[in-house]
Formats: sequence, C-alpha cells, structure tokens
Amino acid sequence: MIVILKRDPNPEQLSNLEQWLMLQGIEIHRSEGSSSLILGLVGDTSGVDMDLIRALDIVEDVKRIQEPYKNANRKFHPDDTVIDVGGVKIGGGNFQVIAGPCSVESPEQICGIAKSVKESGATLLRGGAFKPRTSPYAFQGLKAHGLELLLEAKKETGLPIVTEIMDLSQLDLFGDVDVIQVGARNMQNFELLRQLGHSDKPILLKRGLANTLQELLMSAEYIMAGGNSKVILCERGIRTFETATRNTLDISAVPMLRRMTHLPVIIDPSHATGICKLVKPMSLAAAVSGADGLIIEVHNDPAHALCDGPQSLTPDAFGDVMDAVRNVLPFACREI
Ligand code: PEP
Ligand code: MN
Repeated sequence: MIVILKRDPNPEQLSNLEQWLMLQGIEIHRSEGSSSLILGLVGDTSGVDMDLIRALDIVEDVKRIQEPYKNANRKFHPDDTVIDVGGVKIGGGNFQVIAGPCSVESPEQICGIAKSVKESGATLLRGGAFKPRTSPYAFQGLKAHGLELLLEAKKETGLPIVTEIMDLSQLDLFGDVDVIQVGARNMQNFELLRQLGHSDKPILLKRGLANTLQELLMSAEYIMAGGNSKVILCERGIRTFETATRNTLDISAVPMLRRMTHLPVIIDPSHATGICKLVKPMSLAAAVSGADGLIIEVHNDPAHALCDGPQSLTPDAFGDVMDAVRNVLPFACREI
C-alpha cells in the first residue's frame, strides 16, 4: 500500500499517522520524490483502514500495490534511484560502462586492461575472481588472489571494481570490493540475497537464465527487505529455443523494467550473445532503449582468454563501441 501525501504535510499529523501505522506492525518507507512525499507501507496491510487514511487532511490518495515486489516498485519510489559507487553515479540518466575481462588472470592482464578501458571511457572495472563454470574441470578463477589483483588495478587506475560472489563463505573477502555481483546462476540463492541485504555495498544482480522480470524483482526485493536499497539490475540474455547466439537478449526488459522499478537497469551484451561481433549492435540497442549502462567483457588477447574469449572485445574494439555508444546516447528513449 502507498500513501501519497499532499504538499508540505503538517509534521505533527504526519508523525501521528506514522505512529498509528507502526503500532499495527507496518514498516514505513518514506520516498521524497520530485513532486510529492510517498509513504510505502510494508507488511500485512490487509487490516489497515484505507478510507480512514484517505480522509485525513494531509493525504492526497491511498493505493494498494498489487505486485508482490514493494521496495523495488516504481509506485513506491516514482523517481529513478541513482546509485553512487565511489563517486560514479549510475541511474537516473547517468549512463555508465563497466568493462574488463571475464576472469582476472594475472597482474599484467588486469592492470593493462583496466588502463585501456579507462582511456576509452569505462568508469568501472569488472573481472571475475570466483568463476561459476559449467564444467568443474574448467578454470575456476584466481579466487582470493584474483581479488587482490583487482584491488591493485583499482589502485593504479582509480576505477571502482565489480566482481562476483558465488557463496556466502566468500563475503569476508569482499570488504574492499565496490560492487558485489550476483551472477545469473545465483539470482535465486535467497540466503545469499538476504545476507547481502545487510551489506551497505551496491549489488549488481543479474537476471537468471530462465527467470521472469517479476522473479528478478523479487530477488531484488530480498536484498532491499534487509535494508540495502543499492541494487543495479542486469539483463544478460535468457534461454530460448534459439541456438545461434549463446542466449537471447531481451531488450524489451529495459523499458519494461524501467516501468516496473526505479532501480538502474544495465545490459550485458557479452553474455547475452556470446559473440564479440554482436556486442556493438547490442550495446547501441541497449543505449537507445533507455538502459542505465553496460557491462562488457574486454580482453587483451581474446584468443587465449581463460574464459569467454569468443565474446570478449579487444581494447581497440571496445574503444570503437564506446565511441558509437556516445553518439547514440542523445537519442535514448527514457519514456516510461
Ligand atoms: C559474468 O559476468 O562473468 C558471468 C558469469 O555472468 P552471468 O552470471 O550473467 O552468466
Ligand atoms: Mn564471462
């Protein structure tokens, strides 16, 4: 349920209303939007008398929220959420590009790529240290050492780092990580999501291989219910009957999610297609569709990458994508 207040509500009446709701076991989330103050009520609101609230002087309207996601719902928070990652703002018209290798492989590799993607305009550095691989015999990442190398690259370039957590047992190692990524395979690891809800770090939540947008938002809700509202959503392609591409990029997820939620939405054209030549057209589509950013895999030597070489761009190709994206951003459709 949401309570939309009139402009400049009487503070005493507002406080009385909030106290009365809290006495009924309701949690209140205030959202100060550009046009009005909204109270988002979370909990069992079935016994709350809507007519009584609507009749109050300070209240403009009261509405029930049908959707099961509350904190993530655009109705709770009409303005776009802007997330600040070490001074880099994402969301609300701030378009950011996260770039870097699928996996951290060596100090030279990660620092070299970090410098080149920064020069081309990337504002955050990605790199997997813990890798969720389909085969247990494939390279599993450098783990804790990979995190150390990422921090070294951050020190050299100043770029905040984004890296994936696979299990709660790794959380203590993530103290200096700027954005914690929850990968597609862990989108419904509810215990992991619940614990990340107690963190104050931004979470990059990737859509599961076969999950609906509502399920993605319910996973975001798990994080937000714990008090962490810094969630960035990522569409990274879904499983369909098509086999020509690694996954099928659901580009309509961008405008649809932007209607459903106030959280930033980014696109991963690398995992969505699995083909380096498709990264540029899909990046352009993402930018024009109103996305808040991109996450792109870049490798200094894609042919010898330990993971996801075929979808990785060379630093030069990444520079070309960045130039092209900059050119189309003025045409982005941000209507909701
Ligand atoms: C990744 O970003 O390296 C990754 C494994 O992505 P996803 O979880 O989307 O497959
Ligand atoms: Mn990858």
